[in-house]
Amino acid sequence: MRSVSARDPNLCTIRLRVPLGIIYPEQLDTLKEVANRYGDGRLHLTTRKTVEIPGVPINLFNAAQALLAKAGWYANAFGNNVRNITACPGRYSCPNAQVDTQGIGLELDSAFFYLENLPAKLKIAVAGCLNGCTHPLVNDIGIVGVAPITFYEDNCRHCLKCIKSCREGAIKQNLQGEIYIDQEKCIDCGDCLTVCKNSALVCEGKNYRVYVGGKLGRHPQFGRFLGDFATQLEVVEQVERIIDVYCNYARKDERLGNMVERISMEQFQQLLERWQPVTHYDCAK
Ligand code: SF4
Ligand code: SF4
Ligand code: SF4
Repeated sequence: MRSVSARDPNLCTIRLRVPLGIIYPEQLDTLKEVANRYGDGRLHLTTRKTVEIPGVPINLFNAAQALLAKAGWYANAFGNNVRNITACPGRYSCPNAQVDTQGIGLELDSAFFYLENLPAKLKIAVAGCLNGCTHPLVNDIGIVGVAPITFYEDNCRHCLKCIKSCREGAIKQNLQGEIYIDQEKCIDCGDCLTVCKNSALVCEGKNYRVYVGGKLGRHPQFGRFLGDFATQLEVVEQVERIIDVYCNYARKDERLGNMVERISMEQFQQLLERWQPVTHYDCAK
């Protein structure tokens, strides 16, 4: 797919899908060749980690796309589809990561990249921790790595290191000298896990936190908390539920967040719970 140039209707920009922004060195030669042969010699990186080739004559679009496809480049980063999925490096290189962002990001891409004719565009972002470098709360579906903590009092040696490590002031000591977690203040960041050497603070799973309905644009809104999930498989299944309910209940051009607002979060959750697997998506309405 392409967008027509604002300054010359005979030119277009090819926007390439780049799952998670990962580019393999062997794909670079083709980018260079297409930009030089068909475009205006430039490449442009977008905020969703896609690559654009501007200045392509419309009558050469098919030839350019065919050459790109040979190197594994696909131009489906426009339109009412699942847009290029973004994910931070996560455990690949960031010490803050609570989940394998690259693994879940690529799973989601291969499960949903082909979907077309959604009611509107659908953006998915994965962040390895609550720092949210990929802005998951302003994506239609945001997935964030968290670390819900269980406190095993019998293992606690009262070293107090966890109290100093918690930037939220959520770990406290009462007058009897006992340690406890203030659940009202704890945000499940997992920082305290690294300092407790006595297995008194433990994360026992449900590391994937899912938010729905976030977006930017003219009327930005934050995504709403949907739930915590233990495995990548559960997350992929939950995203499938979300997309199917969205396809069946959204109005044309309605973003997920607007649909959730219209029908209410409670009803949206009920629809997700009643969801049955579908064999095809036909979202055109
Ligand atoms: S979101 Fe967290 S894990 Fe991902 S890059 Fe940012 S700080 Fe690291
Ligand atoms: S770091 Fe662990 S052992 Fe030390 S006070 Fe905290 S919970 Fe107890
Ligand atoms: S998970 Fe984070 S917020 Fe919660 S107690 Fe540990 S350090 Fe504090």
